[in-house]
Amino acid sequence: MNSMLPPLDPVTSDTQLPARADVVVIGGGIVGVAAAYFLARKGHVVALVEKGRIGAEQSGRNWGWCRQQNRDRRELPLMRHSMDLWSRFNGEIGADTGFRRTGLVYVTKDPAELANWVAWGEMASEFQVDSRILSPAQARAMTPGNEQDWIGGVHSPTDGRAEPAMATPALAAAARRLGVTIHQACAARGLEMTAGRVSGVVTERGTIAAGAALCAGGAWASMFCRRHGIDLPQAGIRSTIFATTPAVEVTPGGLVTPDFTLSRRLDGGYVVAAQNRGRLEVTPQGLRYARRFWPTFQVRRKSLSVGIGRSFFEGPEAMPGKWAFDKPSPFERNRIFAPPPDLRIAEPALRRVVAAYPALHGIGVAHIWGGWIDSTPDAVPVISAVNAVPGFFLATGFSGHGFGIGPGAGRLAADLVVGDPPVVDPAPFAYARLVDGTDLGKPGMM
Ligand SMILES: Cc1cc2nc3c(=O)[nH]c(=O)nc-3n(C[C@H](O)[C@H](O)[C@H](O)COP(=O)(O)OP(=O)(O)OC[C@H]3O[C@@H](n4cnc5c(N)ncnc54)[C@H](O)[C@@H]3O)c2cc1C
Repeated sequence: MNSMLPPLDPVTSDTQLPARADVVVIGGGIVGVAAAYFLARKGHVVALVEKGRIGAEQSGRNWGWCRQQNRDRRELPLMRHSMDLWSRFNGEIGADTGFRRTGLVYVTKDPAELANWVAWGEMASEFQVDSRILSPAQARAMTPGNEQDWIGGVHSPTDGRAEPAMATPALAAAARRLGVTIHQACAARGLEMTAGRVSGVVTERGTIAAGAALCAGGAWASMFCRRHGIDLPQAGIRSTIFATTPAVEVTPGGLVTPDFTLSRRLDGGYVVAAQNRGRLEVTPQGLRYARRFWPTFQVRRKSLSVGIGRSFFEGPEAMPGKWAFDKPSPFERNRIFAPPPDLRIAEPALRRVVAAYPALHGIGVAHIWGGWIDSTPDAVPVISAVNAVPGFFLATGFSGHGFGIGPGAGRLAADLVVGDPPVVDPAPFAYARLVDGTDLGKPGMM
């Protein structure tokens, strides 16, 4: 069993760190890369710094789903815009992100789950989302070869998936062609401040003078913020998924059943996720924010196991202390955060898949890997200025569904950084809601 990610497309770096830029983007996941792309399209000079490799953390480790289905209401306008961007990108950037509108299907035997989908569909009708509730017969028809006694399901035919190994690198290369300089293996250690506002970003290779910095650092954003006295409640869940060897097609896109989630890859294999297997690891940062995440934990606890692991001592939620900007920071000590996968889940999950789909007999595990899902207390991202630090912006906290919305999030972040009219109302993504005592209510769907 190969406990590594499937190979990620490489991106060429720029060797020379620029002395100045209009905007420095910190983090080369889908969100930072999309923001850099749109800033460059608006004519701004952009440098993007990435401590490891473009797309090597969450954006290269996910299922690839790009969905409106089952999203929090607050995210639907931005997700709709994101779906338009996905469908345009291949033509616009002249490279394949792997995006295909293959449709997503969820089936169930649980009346409460079905009722949630029905309620969601009623809520989403004002956004004209293409989503249909399935009768038992329709659910069986959507799962040929695995026709169980489903009580129903839901189908979103125009949702789909992109390939995580291809999408962020392809967009980064396109951003570079537009003039963005890309610096991999180059961590941002912190912000340079002059007269109370951002005047540059200090990196391990020197300082880039800039009037604006956008932190799209994924799970590391809270640590980055803390160094500057900015409180950002963020918590992570460790997750394991695996890719199979190529096999016959039993679903063209994504399928959620009570026992597993299957996603058809472009290479003819599947990504498999075992349901109910996220792991909440106790970390210093987790303890710091335990009270704020307690309501979320209560809602999700059935789908989580709790434990302690290496993440207590290393990674984005460890206790780094305060670092000096002229010394290596925790970011460069951990170039690519690759949480170890839970190898025990693979065989039972594969057995369940083959039991459901006998046509997949003989399928094997090609790659298995771990990912760290960063969340906010309400499971809605932050895409926002931080008013206390003029010139500093955040785009983070995508809570397990940031790949699909990443292009739209990057576009919105770009609008906010340069003060252009925002592509959608940014109010639901404001940073302030997480720290000003706003009642965050029940967490959105992950
Ligand atoms: C197992 C799994 C399955 C998922 N499935 C889906 C799915 O199907 N659909 C979906 O929409 N979402 C999914 N997600 C969530 C999705 O992957 C993330 O929400 C999304 O990729 C977040 O993108 P990002 O750019 O914010 O973060 P990341 O991709 O994590 O990028 C952040 C980058 O910032 C860099 N960085 C951090 N600090 C610094 C610093 N100081 N200096 C320089 N660089 C820095 C990091 O190295 C990293 O590359 C899944 C996640 C996991 C783990």
